[in-house]
Amino acid sequence: MTQLTDDCFAFGGKLLPVAEALAMLDARVGAVAEREEIDLGAADGRVLAADLEAAIASPPHDNVAVDGYALRFADLSTTGDTDLRLAGRAAAGHPLAGRIAPGTAVRVFTGAVLPAGADCVVMQEDIRLDAGTITVPVGLKAGANRRLAGEDVAAGAVALAAGARLRPQEIALAAAIGHDRLPVFRRLRLGVFSTGDEIQEPGTALRPGAVYDANRHMLMALARQLPVDVVDLGILADDRATITRRLGEAAADLDVLVTSGGVSTGEEDHVKAAVEAQGALHFWRIAIKPGRPLALGTIAGTAFIGLPGNPVAAMVCFLRFARPLILKRAGARDLAPALFRVAAGFSHKKKPDRREWVRARLARGGDGGLCARKFERQGSGIISSLVQSDGLVEIAEDVTRLEPGTMVDFLPFSEVMR
Ligand code: AMP
Ligand code: MG
Repeated sequence: MTQLTDDCFAFGGKLLPVAEALAMLDARVGAVAEREEIDLGAADGRVLAADLEAAIASPPHDNVAVDGYALRFADLSTTGDTDLRLAGRAAAGHPLAGRIAPGTAVRVFTGAVLPAGADCVVMQEDIRLDAGTITVPVGLKAGANRRLAGEDVAAGAVALAAGARLRPQEIALAAAIGHDRLPVFRRLRLGVFSTGDEIQEPGTALRPGAVYDANRHMLMALARQLPVDVVDLGILADDRATITRRLGEAAADLDVLVTSGGVSTGEEDHVKAAVEAQGALHFWRIAIKPGRPLALGTIAGTAFIGLPGNPVAAMVCFLRFARPLILKRAGARDLAPALFRVAAGFSHKKKPDRREWVRARLARGGDGGLCARKFERQGSGIISSLVQSDGLVEIAEDVTRLEPGTMVDFLPFSEVMR
């Protein structure tokens, strides 16, 4: 799927539960079609576009896990010490030519190929060495201190599946099985606008009635954690003609267009009309707090995400809805962040039938477990509440009150921001 269709985000229902909203995004948004091959050194954060098979096993050969002596388990006495004559040496990168002879041991070092015929290794600390003979105490286990070829990944196995986001550990595995170039989805192009006559760029003296643009810089920073190239589109005044023209121009060149503000139902909220005029727009009345409304649409096949203007709501909606949408479009498979169970360190009342996010900081409770302390001022414009928090307590739809000690789901910011 190269372009998104206009009915991609169509939704006619009343109040949409979060799980349904996320399932709809997952079902309706496809990955961009284009792929490319890149060097391992440029792979961090990218999304694998094809299953990666192990051209060779990892490790490629049976090898030695400790500095010591390789030997044949069959040579060891089961009742007492065993003397073995030293014959040969194998260091990492320098395999022993030939096989280990019965009744002998080979001096080996970590990472050396296990000499042919040997099947275990005794640590150098555990033996006595005397005139070319080692004495091995009773009790060494079969296969001790040996790493088998392919114990990490077997030759021919799928080591990494398409859709995997490449973290340092995925890059390590790809390298270990011999890949120097990786097939990945192309990076998305994502643009960010702010909207509002009152929104002003920092670095200039504040006009009367204005506020500095916090959202655009936050959203661009959030997007940069994803496999996207970010385009800074600046601030749009509350003028329908200008918004319409600028959104249209920008969309032509982008995969994802993100705006904040201007999507409420006030008469100065022109984004809705601007998107509708040249594509399709759907208001998703998702049952959440904070964050309503979230507007989703398409302009000429480009995904449009209209976030709320209040910075806290913009961030929560970005993390919980825009991020999985963008990841899906970028080809990724695992879209849902991990939530962690922690104890609530506060009491809280809420309406049923909607999901709520409470900004909180983690502290170590008396029992040694983690406890989420709610930031006192939860207003949707309180940016310091985001700064002072480690993440979001996510309170399920059916919950109406929390007491200290109630176990809750916690979404650490570190889980959704690299
Ligand atoms: P709106 O959704 O346009 O009605 O905006 C809701 C609130 O968010 C208003 O108080 C706006 O001033 C504020 N707001 C909108 N955009 C931004 C922005 N880019 N940075 C900071 N505050 C904003
Ligand atoms: Mg506005």
